[in-house]
Amino acid sequence: MTESVVLGSIAEVRRMLDAHRCAGRSIGFVPTMGALHAGHQSLMRASVAANDITIVSIFVNPLQFAAGEDLGSYPRDLARDTDCCADARVDLLFAPSAEEMYPGPMATVVDVPPFAAPLEGASRPEHFAGVVTVVAKLFSIMGECRAYFGEKDWQQVAVVTRMAADLSMPVEVVPCPTMREPDGLAMSSRNIYLTSDERAEAPVLRRALDAGLAVIAKGETDPAMVEAVMADTVATASLATLDYVAAVQAETLVADGPLHGEVRLLVAVRFGKARLIDNDGGMVPGKPA
Ligand code: AMP
Repeated sequence: MTESVVLGSIAEVRRMLDAHRCAGRSIGFVPTMGALHAGHQSLMRASVAANDITIVSIFVNPLQFAAGEDLGSYPRDLARDTDCCADARVDLLFAPSAEEMYPGPMATVVDVPPFAAPLEGASRPEHFAGVVTVVAKLFSIMGECRAYFGEKDWQQVAVVTRMAADLSMPVEVVPCPTMREPDGLAMSSRNIYLTSDERAEAPVLRRALDAGLAVIAKGETDPAMVEAVMADTVATASLATLDYVAAVQAETLVADGPLHGEVRLLVAVRFGKARLIDNDGGMVPGKPA
């Protein structure tokens, strides 16, 4: 197993990636907050397959955590993460300190209100401005590249794709499918917060999505009815507290009347200390001609 080279400074990353680009090599970039798992590795493998050089960033971004969220307790283990990157044949690992990324207070914030305001944005009002600002910084550090994001964070993919397009960034955002445990629970760094009883109930998120998709397949187009079916499913888990369920158009992340075409179902649930999110997509059956 070849070690991934670990870099801590923005200048070093720029120097190395510029040299690779000058030599005609393509760059793939996978931004993460560490505590890496097989979901992250699937993004790394997609990048390694499509690019000459893959760089992973590990940065627990203080800007995207509100007071009282899990910034202090978020799992951190750089040695294990380095092995995980090497295992996926990642070339470079960028693990900056908070001081390297934010040497002083930020006066500039990037935000994408139409995509960032609903859903996660409604539950975590400061979250997306923090995410988009750090991703804008990371894209500026990486330069021309393909950037790999998980569909598990569907709204994040929409927000980041729009930001890169609006600001003419030389970055192609590549969405990748959600990796799941055998019982359907989406892999997440936050799953380690679950007690064994909570872990046993956590696949209810997947079941809520399946229940919503099933009624859509049978012809239900009222978003409120689909959301009610999803919420009823979550309510079968005694340890779960529902944050939100949503049935929306996949492209806009809002419902504009009866569901039509490509739709996305999303769910956020609290289990004790853990807040879990998941989503899946489907098509509203076409009307017979
Ligand atoms: P995070 O470290 O949680 O910020 O995630 C870094 C990237 O990995 C994001 O693009 C996530 O959407 C993606 N990711 C997280 N979990 C999964 C998963 N289970 N399957 C695929 N991608 C994932």
